[in-house]
Amino acid sequence: MNFALELLVKAALEERIAHLLLFHSGGANERRQAGLYLAQALNCQSPRADAPCLECPACRKIHSGNHPDVQILKPQKASLGIDEIIHWQERVYRKHYEGKYKVFILEQSDRLTLPAENALLKVIEEPPERTIIILSAQNAETLLPTIQSRAQAVYFPMSGEEIWLDSLDSSINRQEANEAFQLSGKDPDSAQVILELDVAKVKHWVNSFWESVKERDFLKVFGLFPVEKNEALIYLQVLAYQKCEDSRSPGAILAINKALDQIRRQANPRLAIEVLALELFRQGGY
Ligand SMILES: [Zn+2]
Repeated sequence: MNFALELLVKAALEERIAHLLLFHSGGANERRQAGLYLAQALNCQSPRADAPCLECPACRKIHSGNHPDVQILKPQKASLGIDEIIHWQERVYRKHYEGKYKVFILEQSDRLTLPAENALLKVIEEPPERTIIILSAQNAETLLPTIQSRAQAVYFPMSGEEIWLDSLDSSINRQEANEAFQLSGKDPDSAQVILELDVAKVKHWVNSFWESVKERDFLKVFGLFPVEKNEALIYLQVLAYQKCEDSRSPGAILAINKALDQIRRQANPRLAIEVLALELFRQGGY
């Protein structure tokens, strides 16, 4: 466990903890586990001097994701919007069910939209009692400065593959996790999304895309859809990373990044990918 987290757990056990925390860098799963551990420290029914017991009903419920006062919110789409934050806000102001502390973990909070961040600011300014909000983000810099300045930041050292693999739940297949990590271009957050999407599915899509480009077969491109926005972003990131490895195709990297940018700006994923395929047909050289 990193030193900053150790101090935080100690503060939690002594009930003198900041109500807004910002966990950043490191891996998504590592930050989530740290948030849950902290929630255990805050709600443990028989804590030790420096750690939660991990065995009492509260610790167990938090571990299994069944504690009503400990909740994880993560974006279902490419961004975390105002509607989700307003819905979430209602839960924040609800009474405690059974725990001493309510703990809310907002995953990938670097994907909050600006209106969502403003709604979040209101909650931060009028924090409900015994409620801890943990913003978990790979890149803290993208959050509004007014949010950053109100949060106690906890930096997680950038993890290499080993550390990322270590932080994964033991139920996850190591070989798949390894593949996801390689496909992602060694980015723990993207690797996490690839795992959630299914590694085989991502590989299949990416291979089919390259096949259609090599064969200049537009009918094959049609077979790649439907694709949702967050899937499209991951697929294109994988394509871009593969082309970065292959330094002969700077034009392809530019085209892929352009498509990524368009999809991030709400362009129709299918349209952006079709345009990309046509551009790659034109460039040839496969
Ligand atoms: Zn306990």
